[in-house]
Amino acid sequence: MNEQYDVLVVGSGVIGSAVARELARFDLKIGVVEKNLDVCFETSGRNSAVLHGGFAYDPGTKKAECCVEACLEFDEVAQELDVPFMRTGKVLVGNTDADMESLKKTLETGKINGSQGLEIIDKARLRELVPAVCGEFALYSPMSGILDPFQYTIALAENAKSNGVDYHFGHEVTEIRRLAKDRFQVVTPKGTFFTRWVVNCAGLGCGKISDMLGITGYRIGGSKGNYIVLDKRTGPLLPMPVYPVPSNTYMGIHVTPTVDGNVTVGPDAEYVNDFTYYGVPQDKMNYLAESASDLWPHIHKKDYIRNYAGILPKWLDENGVVQDFVIEAREEAPNTINLVGIESPGLTAALPIARRAVRLLAERESLRPNASFNPRRKGIIRFSEQSEEEQARLVRENPDYGELICRCEKVTKAEILQAVQNPLGTHTMASIKLRTRAMMGRCQGGYCQMRVAQIIQKETGCRVEDILYAREGSNLFTGWVRE
Ligand SMILES: Cc1cc2nc3c(=O)[nH]c(=O)nc-3n(C[C@H](O)[C@H](O)[C@H](O)COP(=O)(O)OP(=O)(O)OC[C@H]3O[C@@H](n4cnc5c(N)ncnc54)[C@H](O)[C@@H]3O)c2cc1C
Repeated sequence: MNEQYDVLVVGSGVIGSAVARELARFDLKIGVVEKNLDVCFETSGRNSAVLHGGFAYDPGTKKAECCVEACLEFDEVAQELDVPFMRTGKVLVGNTDADMESLKKTLETGKINGSQGLEIIDKARLRELVPAVCGEFALYSPMSGILDPFQYTIALAENAKSNGVDYHFGHEVTEIRRLAKDRFQVVTPKGTFFTRWVVNCAGLGCGKISDMLGITGYRIGGSKGNYIVLDKRTGPLLPMPVYPVPSNTYMGIHVTPTVDGNVTVGPDAEYVNDFTYYGVPQDKMNYLAESASDLWPHIHKKDYIRNYAGILPKWLDENGVVQDFVIEAREEAPNTINLVGIESPGLTAALPIARRAVRLLAERESLRPNASFNPRRKGIIRFSEQSEEEQARLVRENPDYGELICRCEKVTKAEILQAVQNPLGTHTMASIKLRTRAMMGRCQGGYCQMRVAQIIQKETGCRVEDILYAREGSNLFTGWVRE
């Protein structure tokens, strides 16, 4: 493989996907190299999925600027990319005088940052907004919301791909050699790429890629947060995210409805050295449930359907203090755009971050617009969300809509087929899961996993033994028990 690019993006979480999509507005040959087999398999798929209002970040920081910018534009973004989004609002609940002081400070910070509609509300209004919530008063942010981090990242990447960006999955960048001021050789165990520019969007790997670009010294800490996912029965009981009063560095354990009707409980926060271990220990789950029950009483073991964890890449200074997002183009490392420490609110802020990154490139060479760029992308139609008339029409036109594959989430064969034929060309079980919600319901794939595997096998012509759950080596089957 000796692909030649104008720009090579390393990493395709939400940031790399947003950068690739924003770069595609210009007449450039763009490639993305990603070590995993699909987008969104690391931090971008392992978070609270909250569109933040921007009141929790120090004024003047990129975190505050990018977050507020994204929050204000997100209805339009969600429509353009056809992704689920609900502007639910959010409450930060307090009980004591100290809590009130802290919330007033947060309110002032939010106002300076340009966060809109913030107000302190009393107990009666709090109960009106979120019945059964425990707390005496709250800071209410009507502009906050919830999104689907998988669909959003996939949409950005699919839109980039349909605008001409090449994707190379399963390629871990191990070395970057500068051959000239504007020529790099980017090495992965599976091949080599040549490019004039490199953009570092490597998330937890940002420090290593930064070193490879010749920008040394970034110390990246990984803060791990665990979550419990609750059954959809609980969704209707929680109209918006409920947070405790934040500390300076940490949002606290919260309860958050998802756009699909589940509730997530978490995260806690603990610095870890292993950036690959995503297991959730039982004692952490007990701690999450106990802490969050102080805010909202509907957390019961019978509703637990899954757990997950995410790891935030935090850029720490020599005193261990967390620093702002880095979006830089250093003179000593020409033709590189370096994104470092993109922790929370990176999901919210992805597009503003991407625009700033692309602007740095555009300031250094003249770019021609891509005349055929189309910002719109259409997602897979969710059968279960359609009216009865629309469902009948879909089945009439395509009988595959009449075959239910996932009973818990009511996902049809037609949707699975569209997911298998996804524009990015990825075929792991997790790729189908994130695109359709098959295997995400109460039984977690007990019923449908084998059926999804059969569809993948039939559509792609692969052997059942070759079907992976998500990563290389995660083969699901050793073969057929009966022929
Ligand atoms: C617990 C938790 C809660 C959060 N809650 C929220 C929230 O509610 N709202 C919000 O706005 N933000 C939230 N965030 C933050 C948000 O998820 C991140 O800021 C965002 O996902 C970062 O995206 P990314 O693309 O930089 O990283 P990633 O999604 O990790 O993507 C980086 C990609 O680079 C790839 N990569 C790394 N090294 C290499 C290499 N050498 N070669 C090739 N590829 C490589 C990785 O495989 C990965 O796919 C939360 C994060 C966590 C962990």
